[in-house]
Amino acid sequence: MNKNIIDLQGKLEALLLAQRDNFHQGKVADYIPALAVVKPDLMGISVATIDGKVVGAGDYQHAFSIQSISKVFGLVMAINRIGDSIWQRVRMEPSGQPFNSIIQLQSEKGIPRNPVINAGAILVSDILTSHFSSSKLAFLTFIRKLAGNENISIDNQVYLSEVKHGHLNAALAHLMKSFGNIDSKVQDVLSHYFTQCSISMNCEQLAQSLLFLANKGIDPRTEKVICSARDAHRVNAILSTSGMYDQSGEFAFSVGLPAKSGVGGGLISIVPGYGVICAWSPPLNHYGNSVVGMNLVASIAEELGLSIYH
Ligand code: GLN
Repeated sequence: MNKNIIDLQGKLEALLLAQRDNFHQGKVADYIPALAVVKPDLMGISVATIDGKVVGAGDYQHAFSIQSISKVFGLVMAINRIGDSIWQRVRMEPSGQPFNSIIQLQSEKGIPRNPVINAGAILVSDILTSHFSSSKLAFLTFIRKLAGNENISIDNQVYLSEVKHGHLNAALAHLMKSFGNIDSKVQDVLSHYFTQCSISMNCEQLAQSLLFLANKGIDPRTEKVICSARDAHRVNAILSTSGMYDQSGEFAFSVGLPAKSGVGGGLISIVPGYGVICAWSPPLNHYGNSVVGMNLVASIAEELGLSIYH
């Protein structure tokens, strides 16, 4: 191992130690009952860089439910499939509302504020359901290729739990359907959405699989074009303004990086030109963001001077 890697590894381990007791400050998501069984004191962090370093500490190889982090992959797939026409069906503005809010959707005629709140991701799921013969398989294949791991799969317990308790998501989908903004059958769209949310991955896999967003759309390991540089820029912009839901302003203010959280406790943060950070700790704050995950990303971003606003 070269010295830079040893230094970074030491930093990550020290950061985890400093957060050891802070998981008490949050609460593990239980509105999807299958998520509530996760141990609250697990935590990990991984950093993958575009020049090929992959470093991790703590439970960085422990798989967790990626939940809303899946919205990033879905958005890229949908943009690749239907191009700019996606922006006629979903906007790119922060919502200022909780991630699963239905309030704006009625007054804004079934057009979601952005693709990373639930309404927007369900809309994206409709695009995928309508444009792929098997959107679930296409999604898994996309993620497996990006992560370089054929074993990534769906946690069926989580999936069934989401189906059983996903009434609000169903309401969002039906409301959009009533405005003519959902093409496929609502049931199929929700099934896709719950499937992508139920995928299990670990910090190391997530950090590596999103490197293309830190590298103008090109996967630095394979040199494959995953999306255009313009679309990588656009996805990062949306993650900066909306990826942490109604805490996106505070995250930009204090950290300064595009990011996406999930209620499984995962948090990915893109550092354009450098790499990707993924942190995981299950207890959440009331915005649905991981308390320790945010602290970890904030600390490493500060130590390494990674903010895009410097
Ligand atoms: N599957 C979750 C839901 O639909 C995803 C939410 C999240 O991770 N913020 O509620």
